[in-house]
Amino acid sequence: MNKTLILVVEDDMPVHNLITTTLKTHDYKFISAKNGGSAIMEASTHNPDIALLDLGLPDVDGVEVIKKIRTWSNMPIIVISARSEDTDKIEALDAGADDYLTKPFSVEELLARLRVTQRRLALMQQENSAQPAVFVNGALRIEYAAGCAYFHEKELHLTPIEYKLLCLLAQNVGKVLTHTFITQKIWGSSWENDIASLRVFMATLRKKLENGEDHTQYIQTHIGVGYRMLRVE
Ligand code: CA
Repeated sequence: MNKTLILVVEDDMPVHNLITTTLKTHDYKFISAKNGGSAIMEASTHNPDIALLDLGLPDVDGVEVIKKIRTWSNMPIIVISARSEDTDKIEALDAGADDYLTKPFSVEELLARLRVTQRRLALMQQENSAQPAVFVNGALRIEYAAGCAYFHEKELHLTPIEYKLLCLLAQNVGKVLTHTFITQKIWGSSWENDIASLRVFMATLRKKLENGEDHTQYIQTHIGVGYRMLRVE
């Protein structure tokens, strides 16, 4: 039995029904809201584990809902957007959303995002009980205290910025980080040229996370949005 409680915020009935039917068949519990006002109310009353939030709501913009929820809760929010423009997703991610789905999406994609989010939730709960000194993901290992990273048991020779980038991605594994968020964290600013430098540093970092036979992808690019470190099984 899946005990995760999902808040579904969607005013478009066919999409709402697709989501809730999928959740039902996969034993998720859910509550629904059809506008921003009731979304905020349901979120504060029931404290769901995850929110699936449509950005285009009849009363308020979904981004406002994210900002409101973030004033009291860190619950993972997956944004559902009919708009393909990157700016909407970026605005939502910068406001504190964790991930996004673009309409039309498949049931498999929805379920995959939920699984990723659940894994992240479980990790967050673990981290809250004890901040690990070592981060391990597939063949990647970071020893925070020593400030060293290893890949396939060999030390990675990283520049200070590459190391900071790697740690930032690792600390948010599974989560899409926007260019703005990353440049703010690394350089404290987000000018156009910082984003250009970010691309360069990310390219060299990814090169270092490639290993002959092993074609596992660790860092995923979301074009026009940002980057995500994938959880390697
Ligand atoms: Ca809508």
